[in-house]
Amino acid sequence: MKRILVTNDDGITTTGIARLAGAMADLGEVTIVAPDREMSAISHALTLMRPLRVKEVQPRWFAVGGTPTDCVYLGINKFIDGPVDLVVSGINRGANLAQDIHYSGTVAGAVEGRILGIAAIAFSQILGGDHGALDRAAEFARELARQVLDAAELGERPLLNVNFPPAKAKGVKLTHLGTRHYIDSLHERADDNGDRYFWIEGSSVHYEQAKDTDCQVAEEGYISVTPLQLDLSDYHERDAMHSWPMFMEPD
Ligand code: MN
Repeated sequence: MKRILVTNDDGITTTGIARLAGAMADLGEVTIVAPDREMSAISHALTLMRPLRVKEVQPRWFAVGGTPTDCVYLGINKFIDGPVDLVVSGINRGANLAQDIHYSGTVAGAVEGRILGIAAIAFSQILGGDHGALDRAAEFARELARQVLDAAELGERPLLNVNFPPAKAKGVKLTHLGTRHYIDSLHERADDNGDRYFWIEGSSVHYEQAKDTDCQVAEEGYISVTPLQLDLSDYHERDAMHSWPMFMEPD
């Protein structure tokens, strides 16, 4: 029996996580460990400075007063007996494309699974779709999870970031991360006392057109599947910087 941990960053009461958990139920024993409130854009935060409260809202559904990373850490180390075969995160309300992954709590949940040595997938549904969008996303999530579990049996530990287009997908494409910029995302206002305050909003987005990127492929109406890795080292820059006099020669 495969053990599957489901988390998200939109909170345990959202439709997205319910649909994802439902899709995983055919594949093994599902345990949901998710934040008790919305934690979008919390990135990979781990709660160290206050206690984490947990409520088992129904069997195998744990609501945590913490972040997606807290949830995966607790799930794997405490609530699930035996090794976990797969961590899935989502289905997020909204895209997690390009640099979004650095802010995303959804992606962080999957990354935490991978850090702990487990295959992991983050799922995000781009907004603006019809009522069937989540059904289609959940069905695809099941098929991809099935294949990742097969790959995990052979020793692979993929970390995948999946984005669903709003409309019925034309197909599925493997991608790499693109480049996106948020436009007019910082708003300055004043309160009744005349004190200024700011809102950061991720509403208007421009992306650089480039073949086979997650942004481009999703825009064209395909499901984007981006394999990620934990190693953020820039090997090219490292090699270039060897000529700087302050650094010792490589051995
Ligand atoms: Mn979210």
